[in-house]
Amino acid sequence: MALRAIGLLSGGLDSILAAEAIRRLGIETICVSFRSPFFDSDNARNAAAGLGFELLCLDITEEFMAMAPRPKYGYGKNMNPCIDCKALMFRRIGRLMEQMKADFLFSGEVLGQRPMSQNKQSLRNVARLSGYEDYILRPLSAKLLPPIRIQRDGIMPPDGLFDLSGRGRSRQLELAKEFGVNDYPAPAGGCMLTEPNFTRRLRRLLELRSTPSIQSIELLSVGRHVRLSPECTLIVGRNESENQRICDLAIPDEPLLYVIGHEGPTGLLFGKSDRDSLLKSASIVARYSDAPKDMTATVRIEGAGEQFDVDVSPMRPEKVRELLV
Ligand code: SF4
Repeated sequence: MALRAIGLLSGGLDSILAAEAIRRLGIETICVSFRSPFFDSDNARNAAAGLGFELLCLDITEEFMAMAPRPKYGYGKNMNPCIDCKALMFRRIGRLMEQMKADFLFSGEVLGQRPMSQNKQSLRNVARLSGYEDYILRPLSAKLLPPIRIQRDGIMPPDGLFDLSGRGRSRQLELAKEFGVNDYPAPAGGCMLTEPNFTRRLRRLLELRSTPSIQSIELLSVGRHVRLSPECTLIVGRNESENQRICDLAIPDEPLLYVIGHEGPTGLLFGKSDRDSLLKSASIVARYSDAPKDMTATVRIEGAGEQFDVDVSPMRPEKVRELLV
């Protein structure tokens, strides 16, 4: 009987090896990659294109945003809810498995590779929470894990699965050589929620908005962020493309600021602003502009259908540094 499997492909080496291991067993292999404001499908697309895997790229934003504020198994080192996230991804591809009449699911998780999210209990928690516990195969560590249904039924070929465990990478590198996989991204990276700087900004955003919009999350990767008061943050572009991005993502009614008569950044004041925060924002935008630092600069403030100009002295750099998020 020809088997069909659906697996998670992040584009990292482990996920590539898992997919390749399944394909080498003669099983029809369909890969799925997810995107959200925190991670994208770029690495998966490159890997699938290079190795000839069929790839479906799905947006998981809505479900992810519903889960992320209160993950059942909490967060990793930063704000990464890895156990709940993996379970969510398996739940989505589990539904696909049913629709496409596939036989099982797989991923590149390796037992013990991540102390919190890939120990035996965590792998079990992921599988249980997904609702597809008996269908999830981890080909790279399958020999160390309890068999899933198709293995117990003797449908799965007995050879071609592995016993990788721990944090070392040497076995993966050997396997990559054996499989002829030469092109893969460096380990880690790819998910903004694992990055401390991004997480700091996200925490700050959550202080301002309990249910942030997608645009406000996308703004977390743009520009300098300056905490002006408990109620508001200023975002200042660092170059032309960030200035444009800020304009594209600006939330209606949130004030935009720019210097008149000199090259300079675009600023976006996010949160509840008052006169004091507007003036401070203008002074910071002036600081990062080409306006002379020993004179006042004119800054235009636009928002909520209004526009007005203020004359301000550029803020001292050490004062701005104190406020950076
Ligand atoms: S690192 Fe990010 S994408 Fe990966 S499982 Fe964790 S939360 Fe999900």
